[in-house]
Amino acid sequence: MSDGEVLLKIVDLKKYFPIKTGVIPKVVGYVKAVDGVNLEIKRGEVLGIVGESGCGKSTLAKVILRLLEPTSGKIIFDGQDITKLKKKELNKKFRKRMQMVFQDPYTQLNPRMNIKGNIGIALKQHFNLSDSEVERRVGDLLEAVGLSRKWMYRYPHEFSGGQLQRIAIARALSVEPEFLVLDEPTSALDVSVQAQILNLLIDIKKEHNLTYLFISHNLSVIEYISDRIGVMYLGKVVELAEARELFNNPIHPYTRLLLSSIPPIKPKTIVELPDIIGEVPSARNIPPGCRFHPRCPYFKEKLCDIEEPELKEIRPNHFVACHLASEFLSNK
Ligand code: SF4
Repeated sequence: MSDGEVLLKIVDLKKYFPIKTGVIPKVVGYVKAVDGVNLEIKRGEVLGIVGESGCGKSTLAKVILRLLEPTSGKIIFDGQDITKLKKKELNKKFRKRMQMVFQDPYTQLNPRMNIKGNIGIALKQHFNLSDSEVERRVGDLLEAVGLSRKWMYRYPHEFSGGQLQRIAIARALSVEPEFLVLDEPTSALDVSVQAQILNLLIDIKKEHNLTYLFISHNLSVIEYISDRIGVMYLGKVVELAEARELFNNPIHPYTRLLLSSIPPIKPKTIVELPDIIGEVPSARNIPPGCRFHPRCPYFKEKLCDIEEPELKEIRPNHFVACHLASEFLSNK
């Protein structure tokens, strides 16, 4: 990926949810769902974010779009700091440019509205179109996602999961966004339909010159669609690299664990790991030092349990947060 124009930059982004107890609720701690994430997404790029459930990737997506308010940090979209922008201004200037497609196609659409209503509502809001113009645009959008324009008068319950996800994508496209956040958009679908939706997303991206943040727990899906991939663990990015580089040369023990835990994609490149010790710790109680240390087979006492490793560039455009990253690299 060449050094393109940065469309989205996030700086030390945090989202903490307070834990309250007692009759008169008192904050006794925080769930640190996103805990200091720095990322850049270039225009036209697909940045994949992968990690186990509970790693904070969906919260990160919602905070970036300000569907959840950040606790601290910065969100800079197209050169403008939108972190503290008032909701009214955000909706007026940016909402149209940044859209999201969620995991569950069954709950994204209003079941009481037909498809024309579901898609047309955003068109009316943002473009002030007449009914006949809305009808034409909805028909065009349905065709763009591989559905018949005649189906705009049908209701959501008349469609399959894959068709509903296509409709959700059409709705997201209706406002002509530049940036799409796709939060596990294929994980609720059958495998054969997943491939169709991924291919559709790739085609649409090219056609509309879009930029994607693609969230998934599925490495095969992430590898297929992403230019670069960030691996998240307990609210932090622990490895970030171009997709091919990450799959050929995974460095962080957690990334290697993830790669070894799925059906083999490129078995030769996967370093066998000993059994992983323990459960994923809770984001309420993040271990000190390296947050992966209770599960890491390479854990070094008085280092990994004390000092938090920073995300550092250890090869060109390959960043790893691990004290032993250079050692792992030289042993390859
Ligand atoms: Fe494992 Fe230590 Fe690296 Fe963390 S810093 S991943 S505990 S080796």
